Amino acid sequence: MTVVTVPSSPPVEPFDLVIFGGTGDLAVRKLLPALFHRYADGQIPAASRVVGVAREGLDDAGYRELVRGVLLETGAPEDTVEAFLPQLGYRSLDARKDEGWDAFAELIKEQPEHVRVFYLSTSPELFVDICNRLGHYGLNRGESRVVLEKPIGRDLASANQINDAVGKVFGESQTFRIDHYLGKETVQNLIALRFGNALFEPLWNAGHIDHVQITVAETLGVGHRGAYYDRAGALRDMVQNHILQLLCMVAMEPPSSLAPDAVRDEKLKVLRSLKPIDEANAGQLTVRGQYRAGVAEGESVPGYLDELGGIKSSTETFVALKAEIANWRWAGVPFYLRTGKRLPTRVSEIVVAFKPVPHSIFDAAAGPLAQNRLVLRLQPDEGVKLWLTIKHPGPGGLRLRHVPLDMSFAEAFGVQQPDAYERLLLDVVRGNPTLFMRRDEVEAAWRWADPILSAWAASGEPPRPYAAGTWGPSAAVALIERDGRTWNEDSE
Ligand code: NAP
Repeated sequence: MTVVTVPSSPPVEPFDLVIFGGTGDLAVRKLLPALFHRYADGQIPAASRVVGVAREGLDDAGYRELVRGVLLETGAPEDTVEAFLPQLGYRSLDARKDEGWDAFAELIKEQPEHVRVFYLSTSPELFVDICNRLGHYGLNRGESRVVLEKPIGRDLASANQINDAVGKVFGESQTFRIDHYLGKETVQNLIALRFGNALFEPLWNAGHIDHVQITVAETLGVGHRGAYYDRAGALRDMVQNHILQLLCMVAMEPPSSLAPDAVRDEKLKVLRSLKPIDEANAGQLTVRGQYRAGVAEGESVPGYLDELGGIKSSTETFVALKAEIANWRWAGVPFYLRTGKRLPTRVSEIVVAFKPVPHSIFDAAAGPLAQNRLVLRLQPDEGVKLWLTIKHPGPGGLRLRHVPLDMSFAEAFGVQQPDAYERLLLDVVRGNPTLFMRRDEVEAAWRWADPILSAWAASGEPPRPYAAGTWGPSAAVALIERDGRTWNEDSE
């Protein structure tokens, strides 16, 4: 295979990035390694500063020590890590108390010409306090931006509360609501495939597409995030944001350009066209499950309730549902969505299944004709496969085979693809919101998700049990098989 080299990107302007929740799991495991990689690639100018903020009583040296350990564990070269660390600082602050904020504001104001990014990597309950204090201490200038991590609220009302409060300090153009799935290489590639090739667009509609599947499967249980997860559940944690964003990228009309609002306007139209799922039809169109003890990756693992410490909970750790988009392009094309914890494989993928050929000219000996499928894999092994029918090579008559045209990015480009956070963090610094959610998108997504949550609550039925290490309750298989279709077996 030809290996294509990827040119490195030019450096961005010097910036100050403050990570509220700078000692948390997301900051340490994702954000700081992402920044380090961009630094190692020469994209972060030396004058830039990254300041971690949390209540823990660390100083600059202690924070650098923490980050050094994390980066070295990932196998990062020691000399590059040492060169990166002086850019890091730390301030111990409580988002809910004024103590220490004066000194913090002075630190930030030392570099008035820098782009300022405030990354709120904390629980959303702190967003309002943090933004109010950023406003009060005069830290929002024109070139400041705020990044909001998901979840933005737990329903439409709470999302509105957060967005209203943030909006009192930061304008919409300064507000970057991150969904890291949109920064994934495969999602970018979906845009390139759909709008950079003449091949797909004529077929990209109800006339030729049979159905779409989106799966986000995790092998892990809730682990130490049980308290957060139990208040959220799979629909709020995965479907309302990541999966709906992926659905939008598949289903949106071609935007007139890649200008931020051109793309986001089209995504919004998709969200607003989703057919409602409510008490009248949730029983037929949704399946929710909760894992019990089982075997995951060869090891016995406890059930969800045991992981929570034996409490009662009707939070779903699995959801499968059949969504439909009520517009001309997609009328009658089901979008089967599923996500869950403690499933057999860690995989995120989009499957676009095309309709069968209208008439087969092959006899039975040739074997069955399978559907063409375009499979976009987001993780692991980001890549794209297009399943085609060909003739089995050699003698023996005309026998048909279903084979993938396979483009694994790591193989084709000979490099490890950058993590989604690397791209998105620098997009924030550059002030490019194309891959971030606008307020009206978040609202439209909640408007669709809220009635599902209400229908489940009204039904009084607990989630269906499934054994850890399986593909969810059997009803999830029935959901798609009732329609004469199956979940993509390649991912299972
Ligand atoms: P986490 O590990 O619990 O970290 C929370 C951070 O917030 C810690 O640094 C904590 O440090 C700080 N903090 C808590 N209360 C504070 C206060 N009053 N003032 C200032 N700092 C405070 O959480 P996480 O997993 O990093 O997640 C952060 C947010 O991102 C959550 O909303 C989560 O849902 C979301 N998210 C996480 C991931 C992930 O992979 N972890 C992925 C997507 C989204 P102190 O206790 O020392 O103050």
